[in-house]
Amino acid sequence: MKPEHRPYRTAEGHVRIGSVVYGIGAEIADPQGWLWLLVEAMDGSRAPLAVVDRVREGHPGADGGDVRQAMADLFAAGYVEDAAEAVPVSARERERHSRGVPLLRWMDLAPRASAWEAQLALARSRVLVLGVGGTGGYAAQSLVASGVGRVHLVDPDVVELSNLNRQPLFRESDIGRPKVSAAVAALRALNSDVTVTGERREARGPGDVASLIGGGGAAGEGAGGGGYGLLVLAADRPEALRRWVNGECLRAGLPWVDAGYRGPLVTAGVYVPGRGGCWECLRAGEAERRDLRLPAGTDERVASPRMPWNPANAVTAGLSGGLLAHAAMSVLTGVPALPPGSRFGLNLMLPGDPVVQRYPRRPDCPACGDAGR
Ligand SMILES: [Zn+2]
Repeated sequence: MKPEHRPYRTAEGHVRIGSVVYGIGAEIADPQGWLWLLVEAMDGSRAPLAVVDRVREGHPGADGGDVRQAMADLFAAGYVEDAAEAVPVSARERERHSRGVPLLRWMDLAPRASAWEAQLALARSRVLVLGVGGTGGYAAQSLVASGVGRVHLVDPDVVELSNLNRQPLFRESDIGRPKVSAAVAALRALNSDVTVTGERREARGPGDVASLIGGGGAAGEGAGGGGYGLLVLAADRPEALRRWVNGECLRAGLPWVDAGYRGPLVTAGVYVPGRGGCWECLRAGEAERRDLRLPAGTDERVASPRMPWNPANAVTAGLSGGLLAHAAMSVLTGVPALPPGSRFGLNLMLPGDPVVQRYPRRPDCPACGDAGR
C-alpha cells in the first residue's frame, strides 16, 4: 500500500483507505474480516503470492481467488505501488524531489510501475510560458522547482517598482532590467537541472503566437506543437491574446493552461484540443450562465471594471500562479486528472464557494466549432 494511502479500520470494522481526502479515499466493507488482513499484509515486505498465503493463514475461510481479485482491485484504484521497484533517478534528484514525488503519488489514482513516473514525465517536458509577472512568475517558479525539464519564458516588459508587491522573481536591484533576463537568472539559480531560456518579445498577433509555439524546436518529446508539450499563458495583454493563443493552440494541437484574477476571484483553465470545450466555448458558456442582463449592443466588458492597472497583490498572484502550475502539471503528468475544457478556482470573498466552469465543445464555436474545422 502507498504510505500516503495507509488504511485504517473504522469503529464499524470497515476499511478506510487512501487517506480521508475527498477525491482520493474510499471506504470498503469487510464483512468477513480478511480485507483488513490483506491490506496489512500488503506492507511492501511480501511478494503477491506470499500476501495471499498470509491472508489465508490468518483467515482460512478466505477464497484465494477473491483475495487475488481484491489485490488487483486495490492496484487498479491507485492505492498500491511495487515496493521492489528501483528508483530510476540520481541520488540528487531523489533528494530534491523527496517531498514532491510523494505528493504526486498521493494524488495519483492511476496504477503505475513506479512512483517516479509522473516526476520523469515532468523532467521530459518542454513548456512555453507567456508572461513572467505575478501569475507567470509564481507559475514558472513552481514548474522549475518541480523539475519540468525545459522552460522557455517570453515577456516584453522591464521590471518596475510597482511589480514588486506581487512578482516573486524580481528584486529591487532588478528595476529597469528586462523581466525575462531577471526571471531566467532567478530560475536558473533555483534549479540548475532545468534548462531555462527566455526572450524579450511581445505577441502582437496570432502570427507571433504561432511563431512562438513553433520555436520549441523539433527535438521535443511528446510535443503537440513545435516541440513544446504545453503552453502556459500568464499574460493579459494585448487584450486579444487569449483568443489568439486559443486559435493557434487548436491549430497546432497543443494543450494550454491559463490563469488570472478579477479582483478576489482567481481561476485557472485547462484546454486540450479535441477534448472538451475550448477557451471560446467556456467563455460563451459562462456568458450564458452569468446572464449579465446587458442591453442589446453592449459588450460584456461593461459589467467588469476596466482600469489601466489590474488590481492584484502577492496573495492573488500567488494563488493564480499556483493554480496555473497545478493545471500545467496535471496536463503534463495526468496527476491529478483535471478535466480539459474547464476552469477552477476560488473566490477570496467566499472561500467555501467552489468556482468551477466546465462546458462541452459548442458546435457553433467560432474557434473549434464545426464551421471552423
Ligand atoms: Zn470552442
